[in-house]
Amino acid sequence: MVHGRHDAVTRLRTAWWVRDRSAQQIFDVLGAKEQRTRAVGGLVRDTILGVTSLGGDIDLATELLPDDVLKLACGAGMSCYPTGYDHGTVTVRNGQVTAEVTTLRQDVVTDGRHARVKFGTNWQVDAKRRDFTMNAIYAEFNGALYDPLDGLGDALSGKVRFIGDPDQRIAEDRLRVFRFFRFTASHGQEQYDKLGLDACARAAGDLHALSAERKGAEMTKILGLPHVVVTLARMTKIGVLAFSIEDLQALLRYEKTTQSPVVAARLALLEGEGVLERLRVAWRLSNALVSETRSIRSAARKMIDGELYDAAYRHGRFAYVAVPVACALANWTKEQCREINEFWEEINVPGFPISGDDLLEAGFSQGPELGKALRRIEQDWVQGGFILQRDELLVRLKKYMAH
Ligand code: ATP
Ligand code: MG
Repeated sequence: MVHGRHDAVTRLRTAWWVRDRSAQQIFDVLGAKEQRTRAVGGLVRDTILGVTSLGGDIDLATELLPDDVLKLACGAGMSCYPTGYDHGTVTVRNGQVTAEVTTLRQDVVTDGRHARVKFGTNWQVDAKRRDFTMNAIYAEFNGALYDPLDGLGDALSGKVRFIGDPDQRIAEDRLRVFRFFRFTASHGQEQYDKLGLDACARAAGDLHALSAERKGAEMTKILGLPHVVVTLARMTKIGVLAFSIEDLQALLRYEKTTQSPVVAARLALLEGEGVLERLRVAWRLSNALVSETRSIRSAARKMIDGELYDAAYRHGRFAYVAVPVACALANWTKEQCREINEFWEEINVPGFPISGDDLLEAGFSQGPELGKALRRIEQDWVQGGFILQRDELLVRLKKYMAH
């Protein structure tokens, strides 16, 4: 652990955002040298763990009021947007760096969903209103650690622990149940802190008042993580979710066959009657995500039915994502999955070789008959693996028109 701490401190000191000019200009303009602004949250936690990508967004906490943040950053020529002004968040963009700057706060009144916000200048209080110890670690502009709640040890050992009394923290904001599961899946190897888990179980019946958007945002993040089956099973066990055993088993098979899990692919594995529609509403899933899910599911079904060319032709890029979905749904062996994967790596889907001009030239006239016959030759061409040539297709078209 001592070794871990040393490495963590080094990683903070050498983080990209300590070396990056644009990031440092933001710290500067917000009085970070006078300790009025510090980095916090996911950025600091993931820098400590060495899992941040270069660049990207940074989260800052500040004693400055939102109006002052706007004045100072805009005054220095940076772009500023009052993205969450009412709860104290201003987004500042400088060069390639985007910072979410949130004024320190003490949440005064909460109703389990929303906090009415009061701004403050007390860093301890700001730390204590955050959710988990590993999310309440701060760093100065130069990467020096500021860790008022001693969260570093928990971050390094992957312990997702509520700050304060879990029941009370969940009563303040029930979304924390979902966040507890999300962070334990992403940062805790799905090893649940008992106190937190028990409190989540007690709160499981009280989550209906949460907005669909907030739940959906956490759930889609969960579904994009590498390992989630233990988590989804736990959430189901305590009644936060209602996944069937069959779905959980398919999700487990999927997790074992794919290196890069995809949210829509995971959703495509849920087979129960009307599940997708129910989740679409309960989590307010975007139309894009739902149609991607449907496409992946339909491609996977075609693969299972042996219609590989059809899947490739009709579902394009989604078909590749659907391979591990088909493997998981059909419970194929490793060998079978490998074969399908190979097919997929080699296949090249050409464009349909018959154009409207071809048809006019060959003397066909528009109409429902022609449409029907066209769909038939297209299907012949797909099922035959895209090898039928133009002339042969036109012969067939004539034949189909005649019947
Ligand atoms: P990610 O890498 O997923 O963005 P994050 O820790 O940055 O992880 P965010 O949702 O971006 O998570 O929130 C930023 C920080 O704000 C958190 O680290 C935490 O300190 C605090 N926070 C966010 N949501 C809550 C909440 N519901 N209750 C308490 N604190 C919260
Ligand atoms: Mg974040």
